[in-house]
Formats: sequence, C-alpha cells, structure tokens
Amino acid sequence: KKISIGSLGGTVSMTKEASEAGVKPRLTADDLVASVGHSLDGLDIHAENILQVPSTYITFQNMLQCFDWAKQQVKDGAEGIVLTQGTDTLEETAYFLDLIWDLDVPLVLMGAMRSPQQAGAEGPGNLLASILTAASANSRGRGVLVVMNNWIHEARWVQKNHTSDVDAFQSQVGPSGIVFENTCQYFKAPSKRYVFAKPKHDIPPVFLWESSFSDSLTVLDVIA
Ligand code: ASP
Repeated sequence: KKISIGSLGGTVSMTKEASEAGVKPRLTADDLVASVGHSLDGLDIHAENILQVPSTYITFQNMLQCFDWAKQQVKDGAEGIVLTQGTDTLEETAYFLDLIWDLDVPLVLMGAMRSPQQAGAEGPGNLLASILTAASANSRGRGVLVVMNNWIHEARWVQKNHTSDVDAFQSQVGPSGIVFENTCQYFKAPSKRYVFAKPKHDIPPVFLWESSFSDSLTVLDVIA
C-alpha cells in the first residue's frame, strides 16, 4: 500500500543548534519517516517536503497547494495521505481541507507538541499512528482526520486546547477512534460532512473579530 507524506515544518520538525536560543524547522519528510523506523516495513512510503515553516506562516494558497499535491498523490496510486505541520494552526488547516477534500482516501494531519530533541518527543509515535490511520481501510470516507497522541479526531470538531500538553488536541464530541497496538479502531460513525468546490479565486484577507459580552470588539488577527 502506498502512503504519501508531505511535510510543512512545525515543532515536529524543529531542531536547535548549540549556538541557538530556539528551534527551527529543519527535519525533512525523509528524516521524519526515518525516525519511525522499521514499524513501516510493508508499506510503500513516499515522502516529500512541501514547506518548512512554523504553522502560523501557512497561507490559504499553501493549503490549496497541499490539496493539489494530495490529489496528485492519489492519482499516482497513494491510498492514504499524511501532512505533518505545526500545531498552532492545525485545527484551522484541517478544517479548511475537510471542506474541500472530496475523496474517500484518508487525509490525515498531524504534528507534535515536543520538538525532536526534547525528552519524550512524541513526533515519531504521532507520525506512526497517522500513517497507520491513513493506511487503514476503516478510515476511508471519513474526510480529513487529525491524529495526535494516538487519538483520531475529525477535522470538523478538533481543537487545540493546551499550549504544551501532548494531549492538547480534543474534540467537543470526543475522538472518533484510537490507534491501539498498531490497529486503527473507530467507535463512532463519521459526522455528516459539507464538501465544497475548491475555491477558484484567491481568498482575500479575512478579519477575525472576537465579540465579548461588553459591546467592545477586539481585533484578534488578520489572515493575510
Ligand atoms: N509554533 C509551532 C508551529 O505551529 C508549534 C507547534 O508545532 O506545535 O509551527
């Protein structure tokens, strides 16, 4: 079974050199696959770098590029797709892709809360669980999935709820399934999905406003 893995950067790929204060996205898709080791024997893994950025740099244009890349991988024989990225915008990119992913082939997004050089780094385990999810026939027809800490979430519901906990990702309705001893088990039927055509025009900058119980509005962010 062919599984294609596209890497976009994020903490899961970030390492630090001795002279540096912080981590930077450096590991390639091949490095990430190598970190999982022999557990992938028997699968035909195709790994490609798409971007190497912190996830707050990902634009709508980048997501559309990922969508086209994933579709091409399926045309070329992939039966499951995994995108690796930073966790800060993972719930948003997963939701966006879920709105336009019109194939039954599983498209799984994942990241890691700890960078690869930190003790207890969970990136390799999360990638293995994501690949097993992408390869599982049980995952077909479920749209875009987010796999973190062995839990399988639907893109429609998942949220990042913690800054550092490895179990930061949760769904209001609970997870859909779990990766357990290398099997992918679901305990829920998929939610109804709304799938739209891929946008034909550039998506303009969108202002996000937070309304509060007082009448004041706070500008949260501008997505450029
Ligand atoms: N700042 C990182 C990012 O979103 C955080 C992470 O990957 O967890 O790229």
